[in-house]
Amino acid sequence: MKTLQNLIGGTWEGSRGDAFHPVVNPATEEVVASCPSGSPEDVRLAVDAAVRAQPAWAALPVAERVGRLSRWADTIAAHAGELAEIECREMGKPVALGRAFIGGAAQGLKVAAAEALDYAFEETIPGPDGSSTTIVRNPLGATAVIVPWNFPVPMILGALGPLLASGNTVVLKPSERSPMSAVRLMELTDLPPGVVNLVLGDARAGAPLTADERIGLVHFTGSVEAGRKVGAQTGARLRRSILELGGKDPAIVDAGVDPKATAAAVAFGAFANSGQICTSMERVYVHRDVAEEFIEALVEAAATYTLGDGHDAGTVLGPLVDRRQRDLVVRHVTDAVERGATIRAGGFVPEGKGFFYPATVLTDLDDSMLVMTEETFGPIAPVIVVSSFEEALERAGASRFGLAATVYTADPAHMAAARRLPAGVVWVNQWQGGGPERLYEPAGDSGMGATGSRAAYDAATRPTSIHTAP
Ligand code: NAD
Repeated sequence: MKTLQNLIGGTWEGSRGDAFHPVVNPATEEVVASCPSGSPEDVRLAVDAAVRAQPAWAALPVAERVGRLSRWADTIAAHAGELAEIECREMGKPVALGRAFIGGAAQGLKVAAAEALDYAFEETIPGPDGSSTTIVRNPLGATAVIVPWNFPVPMILGALGPLLASGNTVVLKPSERSPMSAVRLMELTDLPPGVVNLVLGDARAGAPLTADERIGLVHFTGSVEAGRKVGAQTGARLRRSILELGGKDPAIVDAGVDPKATAAAVAFGAFANSGQICTSMERVYVHRDVAEEFIEALVEAAATYTLGDGHDAGTVLGPLVDRRQRDLVVRHVTDAVERGATIRAGGFVPEGKGFFYPATVLTDLDDSMLVMTEETFGPIAPVIVVSSFEEALERAGASRFGLAATVYTADPAHMAAARRLPAGVVWVNQWQGGGPERLYEPAGDSGMGATGSRAAYDAATRPTSIHTAP
């Protein structure tokens, strides 16, 4: 069985630590690789390499950095199928879904890197009497990218573009549960040695990386719990972090919408990737006028989410990432049922190998149940019937999380009112996607630090103002 290695300064090296853990295929429960669990020494070496490589990388013309990132993106796109197969093996995502997202993420890397060509790294503003102010935006130096397992390759690519195109170097730490796709991704790069370094492991690698004084920014994507630790650590060092954390996203289904079409859209929002998307719909508030038809259609839609190994062409719903994640989903459903909820679809652990859980629809809930208050990260659609759009808006907004929210309505006044939802993104009559210009900052416990388009470059650089007398 393969023991995975770190990539440090362009060289593949075994971990200096002595702890390893198995990577398990969640569809078969077979061990598919052995992964280092991380050591401070691995991290120190990776940061050394990132620091060493940074001045030469930053000295390249922007267009050359962008060109190299764009070429890497093309290579990734050409290997999207292979990378999707690896993701399927390490965390269960159906191959077709994985391939589509990796293709999109490679394109996203290209677009994000190309935004550097229009970004004002240097700008001179004339002052009165011939004076001037020049604002220079320099890279931060060596930075860290720490990602989760739910979209292993897209999460990495989503963070790298602006950081690298600005002239920073990166130490990348993928999730300990999905390290194989990150290894393959790094095999496909021809960026100069040390520009991106890969260090494998869990918090045993993540914590020393976050604590390293030479790291100018930590771009962290993961749970609220770990995000708090990362934020505390970077705060103590007075360095930046971007924290993209968990959610409990609401969807509102207003009176006057097509219940069937909306149910199909909500099924996708709740069940896609087995509900393991930070912006999965995890609370559904439906107006009583359309509730009966909507719930019936949602139950019908759930039945079309065929469970299976993500390598099989007929599979729509792969397994959950591991036993721990499925236990959490079971706990949420059990809590709801014990307190009066009704299971309308799914809601059981299938027999046999693999960490499968079916698309599940719950009704007769109240806002205090675990499935309504804590992130579930499973294919569960909890549906609450409300008497008015106002009630839906109020209950949807009453959460400590604030990643995204989705509103389905035909009423222009309700479309306008959707902006009152405290979330980084509000989708109206669509889920996911957006325009070319992005600006996004999670609300509440879902994180902090604005990213997207120009904001991502602002975060990846530090301004110095040079005031020159006439
Ligand atoms: P996690 O917090 O357990 O792990 C995320 C990453 O952080 C992993 O690489 C892990 O090894 C590392 N880590 C853990 N403890 C650390 C520490 N103390 N210091 C530094 N690094 C540490 O999360 P997960 O279970 O891998 O991922 C699921 C979570 O990620 C969910 O809450 C989901 O909503 C969230 N997520 C958020 C977004 C977003 O954009 N907001 C996107 C995807 C996933």
